[in-house]
Amino acid sequence: MQHTVLVTGGAGYIGSHTTRQLLNAGYRVVVVDNLYSGNKWAVPEGAIFVELDAGNLEAMRRLMPRYDVAAVIHFAGHIVVPESVSDPIKYYRNNVVTSLQMIQACRDTGIRKFIFSSSAAVYGIPMQIPVAEQADTSPINPYGFSKLATEWMLQDVSNSDRINNEPASECFNHVALRYFNVAGAAVDGSLGQATPDATHLIKVACEAACGKRDHISIFGTDYDTEDGTCIRDYIHVEDLATAHVVALEYLRRGGESRTLNCGYGHGFSVRDVLGAVQKVSNTDLNVIEAPRRTGDPPVLIADKTKIHQVLDWQPNYDNLELICGTAYKWERNLTEFQQNTENR
Ligand code: UDP
Repeated sequence: MQHTVLVTGGAGYIGSHTTRQLLNAGYRVVVVDNLYSGNKWAVPEGAIFVELDAGNLEAMRRLMPRYDVAAVIHFAGHIVVPESVSDPIKYYRNNVVTSLQMIQACRDTGIRKFIFSSSAAVYGIPMQIPVAEQADTSPINPYGFSKLATEWMLQDVSNSDRINNEPASECFNHVALRYFNVAGAAVDGSLGQATPDATHLIKVACEAACGKRDHISIFGTDYDTEDGTCIRDYIHVEDLATAHVVALEYLRRGGESRTLNCGYGHGFSVRDVLGAVQKVSNTDLNVIEAPRRTGDPPVLIADKTKIHQVLDWQPNYDNLELICGTAYKWERNLTEFQQNTENR
């Protein structure tokens, strides 16, 4: 019988890529999305789509048995760090309360496999680079706290089943994936990030390369790095999506709860990224050097040891030009694509 996976936020960027891979791997997928930032057209064909807020506990309790859901991948959430600083309640409600409702719905309906979109934002400004999972977690914004709070809830629920001596087969297990900097799009240009008002570097640079913005700012050129700009571990969205699929396989094999970094283990500076976008787009970006953005750690690179020990995960897109090239190709297609598909 087909294994059914419920994907919250499956109309969003990472959720839609993961849904597509799950369908290709033979899963039945129920996408739950309130379309706050997702798009209905992004839900891959073959998935069952339910327009619903993941925080609606009553509806979720009915939905899960109706579709015989065996596992949950919980993407739905807000992701804009500066907005989390200006409107923290929104982030605690949608990222923490909604996660709590999702976990509650799983408990009430007997679902014991849960994969969660966490973030490297839980580390704040790490003391050591590359940063490993056991490093101190010390977020520096409400977004990071909201992700960490959900990790804690999941850990406590997983622990409670052991403390209550539930048989291993009855225990709740989860995988929290701490994403580093997710970017890129499907190689064939068919799927990518469509969120309006993007703030992330590669998306913004591609918008500038497509003429949708007249410039791109570098936030800080006086960091203690080789070229003075911040360094990040950029991971291609397809590799990240695959990490979810293999995390699900791990849980289905009886794997226990784990928290895992999801990055390639090496970084690129803001200037490296802008250079790559200019190269793949064959454009000269109007680059403006601007002051530092509050709360940016100078360097953020994953220690990737643990994910490779635990999951059978082999990244295929660890290449900055490929990441930027797919993001640029998607950006060019996006306007036309939206017009053609919005009535689907
Ligand atoms: N950044 C930048 N200009 C932009 C957007 C981002 O210089 O228009 C920088 C940002 O200050 C950080 C890096 O690019 O050093 C990555 O930022 P992004 O928002 O993409 O991801 P974050 O690391 O904050 O999650």
